[in-house]
Amino acid sequence: MGKALIIGCGGVANVTIHKCCQNPDVFEEICIASRTVSKCEAIKEKLSGGRTKISTAQVNADNVDELVALIENFKPDVVINLALPYQDLTIMDACLATKTNYLDTANYEPIDTAKFEYSWQWAYRDRFKQAGITALLGCGFDPGVTGVFSAYAQKHYFDEIHEIDILDCNGGDHGYPFATNFNPEINIREVTAKGSYIENGQWVETEPMEIKRVYDFPEVGVKDMYLLHHEELESLALNIKGVRRIRFFMTFGQSYLTHLKCLENVGMTSIEPIDFQGQKIVPLQFLKAVLPDPASLGPRTVGKTNIGCIFKGIKDGKERHYYVYNVCDHQEACREVGSQAISYTTGVPAMIGAMLLMTGVWSGKGVFNVEEFDPDPFMDALNKWGLPWKEDFDPVMVD
Ligand code: NDP
Repeated sequence: MGKALIIGCGGVANVTIHKCCQNPDVFEEICIASRTVSKCEAIKEKLSGGRTKISTAQVNADNVDELVALIENFKPDVVINLALPYQDLTIMDACLATKTNYLDTANYEPIDTAKFEYSWQWAYRDRFKQAGITALLGCGFDPGVTGVFSAYAQKHYFDEIHEIDILDCNGGDHGYPFATNFNPEINIREVTAKGSYIENGQWVETEPMEIKRVYDFPEVGVKDMYLLHHEELESLALNIKGVRRIRFFMTFGQSYLTHLKCLENVGMTSIEPIDFQGQKIVPLQFLKAVLPDPASLGPRTVGKTNIGCIFKGIKDGKERHYYVYNVCDHQEACREVGSQAISYTTGVPAMIGAMLLMTGVWSGKGVFNVEEFDPDPFMDALNKWGLPWKEDFDPVMVD
């Protein structure tokens, strides 16, 4: 069928690469390109021998010229951006210059401001449209599958959706007192930011971790969860017509929160550069360097994740509730691809989104969020490629 260029070679990319190689009819050829090329070569060595042809390249994804040269040389059908959110715009620029389709799993964040929103990437809509190419934004799990779940609920079960609660539960235990399940810098920037949700079309801001709820997650159990700002709130508010309230909750254990508070109190989560022994360092980047690499957590993490959406709305004049979720087992994910479930639940949807673009099942000229496309083929693919979902028509609602 075609070729995909995968940029970045961390925890999430490892999963997407494995999944592309399990799907050689679509991914005949992939190129893995990242800052540290030895990581790309290590995965290539592990997976060579299958039908998907693998090549590697060194690239600085902050540099548009380097990216353009790489894309012109490899000529992919799609670029799958699994580097960091800081690189989204340079990679989109390179895709525009070469008229190549683009996909990512996290929205752009400027490196010097802990603020993430879609405005920067939505500003590319006209240029992608004119170039006749597609950008698919936020095609991981959340954002990603949560948008597909929302489009599916809208299409099959509701006349109007009024409330959406996105619940992200990680019931896994890696045995470390403190570690993050994906890139520590991105993760800590996300959870130390102010929370927010949408109520009656307005953003309501909260202090970090101000709103707490307790929920009994199917197959995982009772967990504390906290309201966070999350990027899909912004796109779902636009794309799910009539929605009045959207909230995002993520579970955190007490040990994680105590460590985080301590690190914050001593200044280790700051992104302001400081002088250290004659050079400038960013405390949060230094912290990342001393924390366990999320890509190494796979073998030691046990337990399950449960991520899903609870909807409240109207069908045929009656109030309806609907919960759709996926449960993913850390050890099963690790046995299959060598990564824990957080990377797995992000890397699989990235492969599925790329597959739908490459096969033309999802098509459109411009910049899109996942919920703008037909959810059905994506929902089928989740069942087929390792992230089966379950439904509950009488769930416990979050107050
Ligand atoms: P990692 O830190 O494990 O991997 C990032 C990779 O990008 C590394 O290989 C890194 O290279 C590479 N990279 C960073 N900067 C550059 C650069 N300038 N040029 C080339 N390569 C670069 O992160 P994860 O795999 O955990 O996360 C990947 C993405 O997935 C992130 O954007 C994250 O926000 C997103 N994510 C999305 C989720 C969702 O559900 N939507 C959930 C979890 C993550 P090096 O090896 O040299 O460091």
